[in-house]
Amino acid sequence: MRILVDCGVGVGPYPRYGNLRGELPVAMGLAGIDAGSFDIVFLTHAHPDHAGWTFDEELQRPRFGNARYLLHRRDWEHFGGRETVPPYFRRFIQPLQEAGVLELIDGETEFAPGITAMETPGHTPGHMSLLVQSRGQGLVIAGDVLNSPMFVTEPERPFGSDADIARGVATRVALVDRIEAEGWRVAAEHFPAPGWGDVVRVEGRRWFRAL
Ligand SMILES: [Zn+2]
Repeated sequence: MRILVDCGVGVGPYPRYGNLRGELPVAMGLAGIDAGSFDIVFLTHAHPDHAGWTFDEELQRPRFGNARYLLHRRDWEHFGGRETVPPYFRRFIQPLQEAGVLELIDGETEFAPGITAMETPGHTPGHMSLLVQSRGQGLVIAGDVLNSPMFVTEPERPFGSDADIARGVATRVALVDRIEAEGWRVAAEHFPAPGWGDVVRVEGRRWFRAL
């Protein structure tokens, strides 16, 4: 089974991010990965920098043609239920539902053997992190719960981009505690390359150590 965790910013250019253009198709091409080979696209949350390549607007069809797209029900309700639905939600999420490939989930869900969606709300109401477990080892892909390695050291620090700041702090503190206690590795999309590592203690404080 092949799973894509979040899609990045999309075609662009995005004035909001310094006219950034997404490079996912280029990166997949270099790695020899075909868009049709994914079974699941797991969306940690519905923000545009995580859901940008979901739908091919030129061809008017889901970009990952053989995949089901998983999103938390609370993000669907939160963004789609607004009086003014955000443009990115109309572009990147609602067409998936119209195409019949969007699957709304809630609760902690092991949707494939060893692959578990964890509810980590705060950044958005339905934010999820993905826990990957194999042979006694674990990796958490934390999405925007950990927007920077700094939050591994100071998880109690408020993150201004969280929709619910207090909830975001509580989620982050609990997640970092659990990652350390379980000895899991951690990855997050906004971390500098290579974007994954582990949590180590140096003189009593926790730090992210890139691998
Ligand atoms: Zn976000």
